[in-house]
Amino acid sequence: MFDTKTFVQLVQKKNPNEPEFIQAVEEVIDSIKEFVEQNPQYQKENILERIVEPERTIMFRVPRVDDEWKIQINKWYRIQFNSAIGPYKGGLRFHPSVNLSILKFLGFEQIFKNSLTGLPMWGGKGGSDFDPHDKSDAEVMRFCQSFMTELQKYIWPDTDVPAGDIGVGGREIGYIFGQYKKIRNEFTGVLTGKWLNRWGSLIRNEATGYGLVYFVQEMLATKKDSLKGKTVVVSGSGNVAQYAIEKCIQLGAKVVTTSDSSGYVYDEAGITQEKLEFIKDLKNSRRGRISEYAVKFGAKFIADKKPWEVKCDIALPCSTQNELDGASAEMLVKNGAIAVGEGANMPSTPEAIEVFHKAKILFSPGKASNAGWVATSGLEMSQNSLRLSRTSEEVDERLQVIMKTIHAQCVQYGKDPAKDGAGGDYVNYIKWANIAGFKKVADAMIQQGLV
Ligand code: NDP
Repeated sequence: MFDTKTFVQLVQKKNPNEPEFIQAVEEVIDSIKEFVEQNPQYQKENILERIVEPERTIMFRVPRVDDEWKIQINKWYRIQFNSAIGPYKGGLRFHPSVNLSILKFLGFEQIFKNSLTGLPMWGGKGGSDFDPHDKSDAEVMRFCQSFMTELQKYIWPDTDVPAGDIGVGGREIGYIFGQYKKIRNEFTGVLTGKWLNRWGSLIRNEATGYGLVYFVQEMLATKKDSLKGKTVVVSGSGNVAQYAIEKCIQLGAKVVTTSDSSGYVYDEAGITQEKLEFIKDLKNSRRGRISEYAVKFGAKFIADKKPWEVKCDIALPCSTQNELDGASAEMLVKNGAIAVGEGANMPSTPEAIEVFHKAKILFSPGKASNAGWVATSGLEMSQNSLRLSRTSEEVDERLQVIMKTIHAQCVQYGKDPAKDGAGGDYVNYIKWANIAGFKKVADAMIQQGLV
């Protein structure tokens, strides 16, 4: 018998004050428990204790001169979590909430997500408590140059290939790559998600949001249903949310909300492509607040709240971790939601997931449904190595195939009578995502000996 409670307590003792990391570990351990019991080699080789410990954590200070010529300091972290299958691969996050616990949870999740894509990449994550919101372009550039001056000592195209995440878009990736190139004197694919006219993969910006909607489409198809005519509630207005909204519009759904950290907008008439272009300009260029949308289009702005109280068929949380709690999940179910697809990483709390499973609605964890980004980044890495470029149609087709494959694996192996009161074939997407991710990395670690 594998005692999950004792194991999680041990991880907690070794990693005090890291609640998000412990939450992510607990979710994985809970869902792979039976699989580990059935396959004693993993306990014999002590894989679980090894897999929850990052291979390496790099931390340093980032000094910069602000626009008032004062020296400011931020913290920097890069978690190189696991390289059993390929180079560390995982985004960089700039947000004031960033700390070791959040980056370890993201790096840990990334291990399993990367595995599901079937591409040779493994888990890493990095970032800083730097807040780009109220900074000028020049200050953001100085910050990017300062941290890359240090980070470049630890990354190579074959060891660690970072990309964007919250607060890190095309502008930041451009500055970061420019500094890397200047110091190392090499034009290599050490970052993915670059500006499009160079090596960056086409539809890379769209990949996570589009991939999420492709995944939801597959989930609905198992119920002989589709997105057409559905009302969709989306949180966030950043990269993932923008392209999730776009793909929903293209597939005939009506998206009625978008949000940022100041509150949400409810647009009863639905967000159109034209209104979405306004959001893109507002968030990607003018860097304004989402309430401007409400003013411009006569929609409602609800300050300091999340959109889960709005009646919908489908909910797509696309902002940040733990943004959807148990009470919000109850509200969604009560209002008749039939599916929840996670675009963000770990946006639903364990209590919320329990509610979705109990109500037997379709629920996809971020590590399966937001893998579109890492999948196209993997394609970008191979095309960088080969000095190739692909058309956006080719990348989109590959993205659809990858999302379909991940979904099909979940359906084939994720049937979980335990989560299905009626003893039927409810698909527990989390279970399969975790088992599949775990098996691949655990087997590779055993083959590689003492890693
Ligand atoms: P962006 O920075 O582009 O957008 C983030 C959005 O979430 C913004 O609307 C932001 O509002 C909002 N937000 C951020 N933090 C909070 C918070 N604490 N409370 C409320 N709202 C918040 O990030 P992305 O769209 O790239 O990432 C969103 C999520 O998706 C993250 O969980 C990320 O890890 C995950 N993800 C992203 C991928 C990608 O390809 N970009 C790939 C896989 C996962 P505001 O502008 O006010 O800060």
